[in-house]
Amino acid sequence: MPIKILSDQTIAQIAAGEVVERPASVVKELVENALDAGATHLHVTVSGGGQKLIRINDNGSGILAGEVELAFARHATSKLATIDDLLQIRTLGFRGEALASIASVSQVMVTTRHRQEEVGTQIRVEGGTVTLHQSAGAPAGTVISVENLFYNTPARLKFLKAESTEKRHITTTMTRYAMAYPHVRFILEQDGRELLRTGGSGQLADVVVKVLGLENFRQMVALELEESPREERPAVRVWGYTSMPEFYRADRSHIVLFVNGRHIQDSTLTYAVIQAYHTLLMTGRFPVAIVMIEIDPQEVDVNVHPAKAEVRFRNPNAVFSAVQRAVRQAVVTFSAAPGIRSGRSGGLATARPEAVWGGEEAETAAQLDMDLALEATGQYPRQRSPFAQEQPAPEDDPTAVPVGLGAPLKPRTLPMLRVVGQVGAMYIVAEGPAGLYLIDQHAAHERILYEQFMENFSKQEVTMQHMLVSQTVRLAPAETQLVETNLDALQAIGFVLEPFGPNTFVIRAVPGLLADSDPADVIAGLMDDLEQGKKPGHSAIEEKLIMQVCRQAAVKAGQVLNYDEMQGMIRQLERCSSPHTCPHGRPTMIHLSGERLAREFGRI
Ligand code: ADP
Ligand code: MG
Repeated sequence: MPIKILSDQTIAQIAAGEVVERPASVVKELVENALDAGATHLHVTVSGGGQKLIRINDNGSGILAGEVELAFARHATSKLATIDDLLQIRTLGFRGEALASIASVSQVMVTTRHRQEEVGTQIRVEGGTVTLHQSAGAPAGTVISVENLFYNTPARLKFLKAESTEKRHITTTMTRYAMAYPHVRFILEQDGRELLRTGGSGQLADVVVKVLGLENFRQMVALELEESPREERPAVRVWGYTSMPEFYRADRSHIVLFVNGRHIQDSTLTYAVIQAYHTLLMTGRFPVAIVMIEIDPQEVDVNVHPAKAEVRFRNPNAVFSAVQRAVRQAVVTFSAAPGIRSGRSGGLATARPEAVWGGEEAETAAQLDMDLALEATGQYPRQRSPFAQEQPAPEDDPTAVPVGLGAPLKPRTLPMLRVVGQVGAMYIVAEGPAGLYLIDQHAAHERILYEQFMENFSKQEVTMQHMLVSQTVRLAPAETQLVETNLDALQAIGFVLEPFGPNTFVIRAVPGLLADSDPADVIAGLMDDLEQGKKPGHSAIEEKLIMQVCRQAAVKAGQVLNYDEMQGMIRQLERCSSPHTCPHGRPTMIHLSGERLAREFGRI
């Protein structure tokens, strides 16, 4: 074929492909235009998965009669004049491409009246050509109907997914804007069914309740973190909601991120959210989160993607750590035992999550109302216990400082529990002011050891047990390689190994926790974790090893514990920063509230 310059229409259709990938992209662009025009009401009507019709009715500024046709020209925008304006951009659009692109692949009808004009305008554009232009009486604002999308680009049409898929994409898109603009009233109707209606209260919580449902919203905690600027780092504010560990999904698509009101896709920041749940969520489980990031527009380049779905930060690390800290802080603070909130109800009178589900203080107060008679402790024989001696048990005063230790106790994260007994040599039964707790002894002990070990490790105070009688361990060749490449990491956590002939090591020392275990067994058990730790994006290898050491050192299921041992363990668990899950994310306890028990027994 000879070289030819393409026709304007073909150029427009090719360019349109970048902006208008599917019906949901049309919805996105039109919603953005309405929001940029200052609309506070936005009504979207869709039929046939958006391929047949997408109509958006807004009460924004409207378009001046003299500019309506211009709005459909390529690269026509009222939002910026020079590239420098991009640094200060506060509108969602700026490329001046959307209307032109949409109109080149569909039949568009616009009726609009600018607030300052008496008479409105109606124009029709088909496949990029204006076929009608007339005056029209209309309320201030804009109605845009996009019909027969991709009617003149059969190739695109073929790529459309099933109507139900496109419908879902449209709903997702709308939902995101509704969350980013809680003060705007959104209505979405698809094929005559209303799928979303928000009240425009200005409260994100109200929108999240609409989107996730009240039951799920109750399992979310509020995020709020403000990082002040320092050195190279800009000020960053992170707010929104994130799920408690008991509420999760099977993939990461329920983590939604916004930067200055713009929904973005960013796998690194998504990972920051996931990582904040480290040791709280099992592998394969992902949080549900709505994360709003606010940052000086000069710190974000929004012009890196035609659909503006990706952005670039000038200081990505600052944003990453702000998101991660905000989420971690919220989850660790609000985490509560599984079941603690089930069956509780509360009105949604205010948007503050504390008011919705009580918050820690309210929870404790409610717990104290429970009328569960506490029997005197001490019906079990008291013996020397490995747990009791590690940390003196503060009996009644939760703020008591243990004598002789000097350091204040860690804050209490669980109410004070009293051990009732052990079931199946596996679970500890305990009671507290809020009812009954079944605690998995192995998982709980793993959590305790893990937090202690991590604390010592971060202070570089890991205790080692030097071997009196030297012992050797023989490994398979692949394992030998793993150990050799990780000798430093192993040493950092207390294993001192020296190569001793082919595939053999002398064990000089092991972590203090493992003093009673067979070192050869332990080292063999570490291999899996060394293997996994090599994958990029996984937590530091030392941390993996520490988890493994704690698992090996923790009391096993099947081990009979005496009363003091159990009570000592519970005392320590009460002050773990994440007492509800083991380091691998499995629950350490099940809570049956007094209310639940009363209900089960038909007392209420
Ligand atoms: P951009 O949003 O990048 O400026 P668009 O092609 O989406 O480009 O829109 C072109 C222009 O048309 C906008 O800059 C705006 O001035 C005007 N416009 C589009 N939609 C609306 C609307 N709903 N209300 C008011 N003005 C609008
Ligand atoms: Mg636009």
